Amino acid sequence: MDRDTSKSRVAPLELYKCTPRTNCGECGSATCLAFATLVVTGREKIGACAHLDEEKVKPLRSRLEQQLSAGVGVSREGFEKTMEFLSGEILKCDFRVRAESLGAKLEEGAGGGGLVFPYFNQAVLVTKSDIENLSGGPLSAWEKILIFNYVIGGGTEPSGAWVGMESLPNSVSKIKSLRAHCEEVLGRHFSGRIEAFAKAVLAWGREVDLKGEGVDFAVEFAIFPKLAIRLLFWDEVKDEGYACRVKFLFDSRVLQVLDLESLLFACEQITDRAACGR
Ligand code: SF4
Repeated sequence: MDRDTSKSRVAPLELYKCTPRTNCGECGSATCLAFATLVVTGREKIGACAHLDEEKVKPLRSRLEQQLSAGVGVSREGFEKTMEFLSGEILKCDFRVRAESLGAKLEEGAGGGGLVFPYFNQAVLVTKSDIENLSGGPLSAWEKILIFNYVIGGGTEPSGAWVGMESLPNSVSKIKSLRAHCEEVLGRHFSGRIEAFAKAVLAWGREVDLKGEGVDFAVEFAIFPKLAIRLLFWDEVKDEGYACRVKFLFDSRVLQVLDLESLLFACEQITDRAACGR
């Protein structure tokens, strides 16, 4: 990050001033200041607090996104250790053997060549040393970890059976995060606005008709060639006292493709893109 951008770095106190300072704890942090600190260090999503002053927070969003993408202020130690480990694992991968199972195209070239495959509605090139977004635009440090994890996981054919996170083994600690950071955020954001939800998600997902199963709207996102995530939406029914509800579903073999942490990150990406119109 250059000097000018460093100067405009979002500080925890700046974000703290956008919270109501009530320390209600709904975001999972004990205090609003703890929440603000976690967000600017990349360990919490800004969408986890539903009570931010939108007028005040609006000008901070792009600065925050920029600094996190550049890795400024993020929990460096954890990130660097993870990247070091993943870079070592990538070196061991035989791209020729992996290409088909990952649904990737092999690019011959020096240094072991590379793999090209879709990531959301973009295309990425993974080489032995880095990842390039062929559609332009930066990839955040955490997106690179997600993509490396997909390649290292090796891909597997989906089973076609869709399950909630609660059906995946050892997911107890992640279920709460998925609800608080993704499902409830989307439910609050799009409550009573099914058309707005459909418009936001269909920009990069495809509709799946599950109305026969009582789902108001369902969409499927192809995160990677062998990894899709479904999002089900039931709008509020005020007369009957039903609140808006959103649920993420995964292929029952998803953990053969990605670990739980990466899966949660992918759901957070979907949430951010839908709620922020990215
Ligand atoms: S949800 Fe918002 S208001 Fe409540 S503690 Fe977290 S940051 Fe503060």
